[in-house]
Amino acid sequence: MVQKEAEGELSQLFENQLYKSISLRRSSHEERILKLKKIREWIKTHQEDIRKALWQDFNKPAPEVDLNEIFPVTSEINHAIKNLKSWMAPKKVSTPLPMIGTSAWIQVEPKGRSLIISPWNFPFNLTIGPLVSAIAAGCTAIIKPSEFSPKTSELIARLIRDLFEEDEIAVCLGEVEVSTELLKLPFDHIFFTGSPTVGKIVMKAAAQHLSSVTLELGGKSPVIIDSSADLKDAAQKIIWGKFVNCGQTCIAPDYILVHDSIKDQFIMQAKIQIQGYYDPSFNGIEKSTDYARIINLKHFQRLQNMLNDALVKGGQIAFGGKTEISSKYFEPTLIAAISSEMSVFKEEIFGPILPILTYNNLQEAIDLINSQPKPLALYFFGTNSSHSKKVMDETSSGNMVINDCVLHFLHNELPFGGVNNSGIGKAHGYHGFLAFSNEKGVLKQRVGYNNVSLLRPPYGIKAKQII
Ligand code: NAD
Repeated sequence: MVQKEAEGELSQLFENQLYKSISLRRSSHEERILKLKKIREWIKTHQEDIRKALWQDFNKPAPEVDLNEIFPVTSEINHAIKNLKSWMAPKKVSTPLPMIGTSAWIQVEPKGRSLIISPWNFPFNLTIGPLVSAIAAGCTAIIKPSEFSPKTSELIARLIRDLFEEDEIAVCLGEVEVSTELLKLPFDHIFFTGSPTVGKIVMKAAAQHLSSVTLELGGKSPVIIDSSADLKDAAQKIIWGKFVNCGQTCIAPDYILVHDSIKDQFIMQAKIQIQGYYDPSFNGIEKSTDYARIINLKHFQRLQNMLNDALVKGGQIAFGGKTEISSKYFEPTLIAAISSEMSVFKEEIFGPILPILTYNNLQEAIDLINSQPKPLALYFFGTNSSHSKKVMDETSSGNMVINDCVLHFLHNELPFGGVNNSGIGKAHGYHGFLAFSNEKGVLKQRVGYNNVSLLRPPYGIKAKQII
């Protein structure tokens, strides 16, 4: 394990990446693709180790590891391999009239030395995913994975040690102090995934060096269930999106806004789905091997307090509510009768509690969403397309999904990310590649051709002619 805690060691590591970051500017798409293929191969041969690490960290079920940790990364790699040549190619731009005689294009170049700080909830996916973009763009990287998923962080350190020299890609394990020291260094780009609170710390540190940032943050992603929704279909998708990874997903539905006339039917469908997914034989959801656990006691306690707070303030459990501290088991829980004083209404839940609010007309739901910080994702369920269009036009969110949830994360062609409080900048595919790239505008003039003589003195009446 690489423990780089001393400030001197970290800045030395950073210095050591300078020469490499310059030489990578010349690297071809073939060379970068070779590196991506090496990662893909490593993942293939270590699939069982990845599953084991995530099980040890928080009992993440193996199928969830395969589908939500490994598949998004290999899909990101495959997409980059297929498209990298065209992403890197100079893109010609058209010539405006005053520039006639010149040619111009956009040349992407690697930003240089990057820092990737990642969270614990999808620790493999959210570390190696951005790394794929960094490698595709031709950057070096220092990676700081989360201390809350130590087994996966150690595994990531092993992957990097097996495949890369430290002057190209290095992993720094450790707690907040390590991030704090790293953030003092003048990185060319910082890619941070985590909470809005820490996002602000990262952005402040980045400002000292004017390092560019991608901030992939969190928040409360709402779900509107329109009166036109197919409730069985909606419940199937929402319950999966909410309770996969035990609700510890940045784009999980945070709260439901359901039309008052269909609230009871939705709750009934939601209960059927929870039972069907996690306890079809009625043995108790805690026996299910398809349901993960809360990452640590701090988060378990935070969620328990949230639930207690809701119940004290009049919330009603419509399903679940059972918890067990020793195993950090937290039952999928639906709560109705929500009020704005409850912490489930005010804070990002990031766990398996789903508050259900109601509305009577769509404008009410839109106004409520617009009164909150802009969400990472907004979900709309319903077949009334004028209603979905109204929501699309009158709200702001990082992504919007109609008649599904969470799925957009896997769409390589879509920019993924938030807006303001839920994030700055975008990830995935070409958008991730661009996050680690500088789009250099290049203008080429012909020697002896002076089509812009109007710009030069003596100006006389010439300057007037150009406008
Ligand atoms: P976090 O912000 O607490 O930690 C993220 C990383 O930042 C960790 O590596 C941690 O060591 C480091 N860190 C923590 N405090 C720091 C500090 N003071 N200074 C510098 N670095 C610090 O987030 P988390 O608990 O790991 O993850 C949960 C949050 O992340 C939620 O808000 C969730 O919505 C968000 N998230 C967002 C996305 C996304 O793609 N937008 C994905 C996953 C999680």
